Amino acid sequence: MHGGPRRRALARRKRPPLRSAWAWLNGGLALGTLWACAQPQAQPPVSASAPTGLEVEVAAADTLDTFSRMELLGQFDPATHSGFESIPSTWTDKNGIYLRAEVLEAYGRMKAAADQAGIQLVIRSATRNFEYQRGIWERKWQRPQYMGWQDIDKARDILTYSAMPGASRHHWGTDIDLNSFENEWFTSGEGADIYAWLTAHASDFGFHQVYDDKSTGRTGYELERWHWSYLPTAGPMLTAYNRMVGTSDLTKAAFSGALTADSLNVLQEFVNGIDLPAPYRNTER
Ligand SMILES: [Zn+2]
Repeated sequence: MHGGPRRRALARRKRPPLRSAWAWLNGGLALGTLWACAQPQAQPPVSASAPTGLEVEVAAADTLDTFSRMELLGQFDPATHSGFESIPSTWTDKNGIYLRAEVLEAYGRMKAAADQAGIQLVIRSATRNFEYQRGIWERKWQRPQYMGWQDIDKARDILTYSAMPGASRHHWGTDIDLNSFENEWFTSGEGADIYAWLTAHASDFGFHQVYDDKSTGRTGYELERWHWSYLPTAGPMLTAYNRMVGTSDLTKAAFSGALTADSLNVLQEFVNGIDLPAPYRNTER
């Protein structure tokens, strides 16, 4: 796995970084949001055969300029998607998890800088497709504590930290969960050092904590200090999601409580309930 990502990273370096994503944003298109996490994942390990340089260029262009409705909804397998790469085993405590190629490249640069500063970043979760997110959702739906609850109350409670399948930023291959799923962990000792470093430097590499403490007035999921989003790709993906995905894509999907996506206004309140830095706020929906 080592030769693969490195060789491909070199091939990609020829392309102007972030240019198409920024051009997209500067074009005045919209944007919105994203969403939530918690929970490790275990997707089936698949061997990624190294593509040629040309294939990589084409795949990279595809992932930055065009997103299909199905991939925005998580209806794909990252192990067989040409725009995705396996995360090196030394960067994560999971086996066989994936990110979009340009996101993995940016993360590699951020990790190298963190290493230099004595900060040890660990990826706990990355791409999760619809099926994986449905597994998280259904496990929570069956919790004994929800016995006798109305569907809408169950869904609202699960949405505190977990996205509905079809409405998760983790579908996009742009978002990662780092080090710990406990906000508290990031408030003292090593966790506080890591969080301080990320807050100061992650934006230099395109990453942003989209689920902040809500002091900026955003709606949706609660604070997640572990969830970081690669905005040069996630920004355009949110725009595409808002244009191509409707509430009926959620209410018609196969998971418990899907119909509540309408009354809970999941697209507006959760998918678009994120904090974004100034360059990404110029949105229309
Ligand atoms: Zn997350």
